[in-house]
Order: sequence, then C-alpha cells, then structure tokens
Amino acid sequence: MPVAFITGITGQDGSYLAESLASQGVEVHGLVRSHDDRAAEQGHVHPDVILHEGDITNREDLDRIVRSIKPSVIYNLAAVSSVYRSWAEPVNAALVNAVPVAQLLDSAWQLQESTGSQVRFVQASSAELFGQAAESPQTENTPIRPTSPYGAAKAYAHHMVGVYRGRGLFASSCILYNHESPRRPETFVTRKITAAAARIARDQQNTLELGTLDVRRDWGWAPDYAHALELAAASETADDFVIATGQTHSIADFARLAFARAGLDWQEYVSVDKSIARPVDPSEQVGDATRARTVLGWQPTKSFEEIVEAMVDNDLALADSALS
Ligand code: NAP
Repeated sequence: MPVAFITGITGQDGSYLAESLASQGVEVHGLVRSHDDRAAEQGHVHPDVILHEGDITNREDLDRIVRSIKPSVIYNLAAVSSVYRSWAEPVNAALVNAVPVAQLLDSAWQLQESTGSQVRFVQASSAELFGQAAESPQTENTPIRPTSPYGAAKAYAHHMVGVYRGRGLFASSCILYNHESPRRPETFVTRKITAAAARIARDQQNTLELGTLDVRRDWGWAPDYAHALELAAASETADDFVIATGQTHSIADFARLAFARAGLDWQEYVSVDKSIARPVDPSEQVGDATRARTVLGWQPTKSFEEIVEAMVDNDLALADSALS
C-alpha cells in the first residue's frame, strides 16, 4: 500500500488531498501542530488519516516522523499561506515556508538512501514566485522575482526542490495559482466576500470593506489543485508544473457575482479602504498550464462562476444555520 505524508493536512488543500488519497486506499499520515486543532474539529480531516504531532519548523519532529512512517510520497503543503500575513510576520514566513523544505528534502533523501526504496516529494509552490511577472501568462520558465516575504520564502523552497531533483531525488514543484473553496478561511479576500454577501443577505452584516477591487487573479477550484499534486507525485518524471486556469477576473468581478448569487447588488454594500491593501501586490497573475495538461493530463473542472456560486451557497447555508 502506498504511504503518503502530508504537511499542512488541516488546511484547505491538505484536507482535500487527504480525502482523495484515503479514498483510493493510500495510507495517509499528516502533520498537525496539536491533535485538537481547528480542521480536525471542523471535520475536514478524513477519519482514516493518522495524525502526527509536530511543528514544521522543528527539524527533529520532521526527521523523526519521516523515519518512522517511511512514506513513499511526501507532500509539503504547510505554510503561512497568506501573503498579507507574511508582511506582518516576514521572519515566520521564512521559517515556515522556506527552511523546513530543506529538512524534508534531506529526510526524504536519507530515507531513500537507507531503504533503497524511492521517496517522492511534491512541493506546493506558488504563483507569488513571479511577483510582478516579466511576462503574461507565466510558465515554468518565467523569471522568479518575488515581491512579498511569502513569495521570497516560496522561491527558496522552489529552488531547493530543483537542487534535490538535480541530486537524483524525485522532487516536483506545483506552481499553484489562487484556488478557492468553501474551506478557504475568511482571512482570504474571496471567502471574505462570499461570507459577507451571505451575511448581508441574511441581515447579519451591513457592509464590506476591501483593500482593492482592481487586481486580477487566476482563480481555480481547490480540489482540482489538490488533484494536480497527486498527478505530479504519480508522474513518470519529476518537474515543475504551473497549475492554473489561464483566465483572470478582478476582485470586482468576484464581488459582483457573489453578491448577485445572494440576491444583492454589490455596489450598494462594498467600499474600498486602501489601508487594508497589501503593501505591494502584483496587478495580475495568470498561468499557462500547458505542461500540466500535456504531461500530467490535468485540467480544471469548475468555471469561475461555479466556484463563486459554490462558495456563496455554502455561506448562505452557514448564515441560515446561525439564524436557526
Ligand atoms: P492553508 O489552508 O492556510 O493551510 C496551511 C496549513 O499549514 C495548515 O494545515 C496549517 O496548520 C499548516 N501550518 C502552518 N504553520 C505550521 C507549522 N508551524 N507547523 C505545522 N503546520 C503548519 O493553506 P492552503 O490554501 O491549503 O494552501 C496549501 C499550500 O499551497 C500552502 O503551502 C500554500 O502556500 C500553497 N498555495 C496555496 C494557494 C491557494 O490559493 N490556496 C496558492 C498558491 C500556493 P494549522 O491548521 O495548525 O494552522
């Protein structure tokens, strides 16, 4: 039976990835900071997952867990995943998003050397590598020049994956563009919008303030992106893969659709407060996923409209349950 070790298993992507792998009979192990953490409480962690307590920043924890479970695949998803938060905690972003990748890669290498069995490594990399990108759409060959502490930390991790691939480890990076779902926390603008639209529709909130309406992002459906990580792990060769829809929409587009789904006109409720915008924010990110499509057979399954609708419908149900 394949054995997978997932860091970040309590997060949006980790929970979808674990569900998918467990449903295929994979023995899934996950790193959690504590056993009673938020996603386990919310029921997002699949019941068959074996949880291991540890912190991604603790090298002994990582090495001990890898040596004890002997995974055939390691998926590294743990992160300070909010670009906005990485500006408030730049050192923590480096400690969580960058440095542990070196430990995980080394642990994978040592395990492979000592057992003679291949260990595969898949990194959740990010479009933030490219910052204000030199070209559009971005591919695996677009210059890496991040514009945030988050992006800089992810760039180090991305390069280390390439370094270990060069050494002979099966190590792949999936360069993920923004992807959303009802499991996105409200600290992210998409879920902030859908939750607000639902609450305003149910008279639980009056207005919504956003830092900007203009930036354009390439938004996909989170379970599709978790699936891409799986496909990368199962691929014949290790590589970098851009995972993106190739289409962009503005935050204003997102708000308009979300409020319409809740039966509201967004312009009556949404205002801009520039003080809550990120210090530096690329105006547009859009990826070209040709390599993932041709090599991995990956493709997105939900349209932008369907993603927004699924999130608003979930938040309307939550707002209704708060009323009852
Ligand atoms: P998420 O929901 O924020 O989940 C982050 C995970 O990292 C959580 O399980 C969190 O655990 C864990 N974590 C954070 N600090 C940790 C620490 N010190 N020790 C152990 N675990 C720690 O993120 P996501 O949206 O699923 O994203 C998954 C990965 O994809 C991340 O690496 C992210 O940077 C990358 N990515 C995501 C997107 C996107 O649009 N979602 C786009 C590009 C790249 P707790 O529950 O304990 O906090």
